[in-house]
Amino acid sequence: MIVTHIPDDHPRYVSLKIREKIVEGVQMAITSMQGLVAQGRGEAFDYLIGERTIESAAVAERVAVAYLLIAQKPVISVNGNTAALVPRALVSLADIIGAQLEVNLFHRSDARVHRIIEHLKAHGAGNVLGLKGDARLDLSHDRAIVDQEGIYAADVVLVPLEDGDRCKKLVDMGKIVISVDLNPLSRTSLSATVTIVDNVTRALDNMVQFTKEMKKDSKEQLRSIIDSYDNRKILADAMYAIQENLKNQTEREGIEWI
Ligand code: ATP
Ligand code: MG
Repeated sequence: MIVTHIPDDHPRYVSLKIREKIVEGVQMAITSMQGLVAQGRGEAFDYLIGERTIESAAVAERVAVAYLLIAQKPVISVNGNTAALVPRALVSLADIIGAQLEVNLFHRSDARVHRIIEHLKAHGAGNVLGLKGDARLDLSHDRAIVDQEGIYAADVVLVPLEDGDRCKKLVDMGKIVISVDLNPLSRTSLSATVTIVDNVTRALDNMVQFTKEMKKDSKEQLRSIIDSYDNRKILADAMYAIQENLKNQTEREGIEWI
């Protein structure tokens, strides 16, 4: 495997390390070539947001955890990018929530689904769904293919790095859909029930931590966290954070903000 050495004093160290993980994913044939481009789009938005978890994203992450903890059938959807970037966090989150992991791919082949399942198992996963593909959402691409006992039957679905039209379809089916997407204006972000505008690498780690803290909360406490939540405000806050970050950076460089 060709992995570039990134010196740890490099100013873009974290971002470049994440990029290397995606490249490794492609080399292991679990991430698609298109996944590289999707990561690039994510990097651009992460740059705009300041490569940090903004406060409103942390709020959305806690609400997402509350939904997952009260769910009857929580499912975490895994694609080639998330499998390459955060395999251990996906497995940890599924374990402490008691959720199922299901592989679901836009560029699907049974061989790739199988490789991702093996990759997750190498990181500690037990049973992973996705190979059966015995149910279908009303969509014309391969992300329509799901497991009957998994995403099809789920009441709460975590869909990190989702495609916009499938996200909307899952919401239309009456499911609670939690997305992780750095672009607050993507169709996914606009249609999810809970939109986490954060890098999936930070979001998943935060959610594992929050679940450990919130697991002992009562159903009523979790419900009240959910009831006080407004996703439109979260989207507005993410856009405001981008604007403020750009403004601060502009002024730091001595350029007048107009
Ligand atoms: P949509 O289908 O929702 O309209 P899109 O077509 O613009 O979105 P896709 O190509 O479907 O985007 O998926 C890439 C999305 O995932 C982008 O919005 C990008 O910002 C986001 N993304 C990519 N990598 C990451 C990451 N590491 N963390 C969080 N978000 C990411
Ligand atoms: Mg898309």
